[in-house]
Amino acid sequence: MGFDNQIRAFPPQIWKGRQLCCWLWLTTGATHFSLSGKILSATHRRVYNMPELPEVETIRRYLAQVLPGKTIRQVKVLAQKQLAHPEKLVSRKIVRLERQGKQLAFILDRGVLLVHLKLTGQLVYVPELDPQKRAVFGHPIPFAGGNTLPGKSTRVIIYFADEQGKPDGALFFNDVRMFGWLRLISQEEWQKQRQALGVDAISPQFTPDYLYQVLQRTRRPVKIVLMDQEKIAGIGNIYANEALFRAGIDPRRPANSLSQEEAKKLWQAIKDVLAAGLEFHGTSAADDAYIQPDGQPGQFQQKLAVYQRAGQPCPRCSGTIQRIQLGGRGTFFCPQCQK
Ligand SMILES: [Zn+2]
Repeated sequence: MGFDNQIRAFPPQIWKGRQLCCWLWLTTGATHFSLSGKILSATHRRVYNMPELPEVETIRRYLAQVLPGKTIRQVKVLAQKQLAHPEKLVSRKIVRLERQGKQLAFILDRGVLLVHLKLTGQLVYVPELDPQKRAVFGHPIPFAGGNTLPGKSTRVIIYFADEQGKPDGALFFNDVRMFGWLRLISQEEWQKQRQALGVDAISPQFTPDYLYQVLQRTRRPVKIVLMDQEKIAGIGNIYANEALFRAGIDPRRPANSLSQEEAKKLWQAIKDVLAAGLEFHGTSAADDAYIQPDGQPGQFQQKLAVYQRAGQPCPRCSGTIQRIQLGGRGTFFCPQCQK
């Protein structure tokens, strides 16, 4: 099962009217069904999207402008499981920010603070914030329960100091579903983590030939291979759907059925769609938690051709966008344009 339908809890059955029913709690919401297996209702089916390369890179670029040179002055942890031993971070200095795939690394003068946003993690930076005060935004922060931070979903707050030791901004880690985490690791561990990931999709190592070799080695559906972080790091559900549409390739095709020419077309489509995602500062879909570190949403959702557009007309032909499940993930494509 994919990220959007893992079983969270399976509480005891309850009587509803004359029927014995149960609620199956999933990461996407809850499904209410009778013991005969008939689904009675499905409620708040929220499909979260893990921030992908364009979202994490947008965050990295923003924070790389404001954090290097600052020293961690104080760390407030509101959810223990998401950051252990916060005291170890105090007095370490931010040197630079690195990213591979969906992982973001704050390189410190000693060690590395590794961050994974998972499904609903947000990093929001507020300059010149007094630790006694709340940050106020001109609009609501998704899942924070209002327009101020710390909010309902705030799990960790890192306060910084400038070179003179004066208070100098705060970074909020919000995560409504709490799958994300921050971890202090060594430089060696970070290098090891990077090696375990596939080549980054916007790195020079990601070439048409590399993609062709990866696809040749498996019969799995091409879309699932694109999302395999051990092969190519950074592509998730949104950009896999969009890239396959741009390349005119059916997401269900066995990966090794693609010709070298098709692999090259797909490579170009991946490069283009990731570049466009970055240009528009990432995708904040209707049900998404993603925001930029200044609290603003991304804009690429307005440019999506197929993702979350089931039933709507294909932007290229007169066909209708279809939605199917592939590897447990919502998959969107145009059956006329994608072969
Ligand atoms: Zn079409």
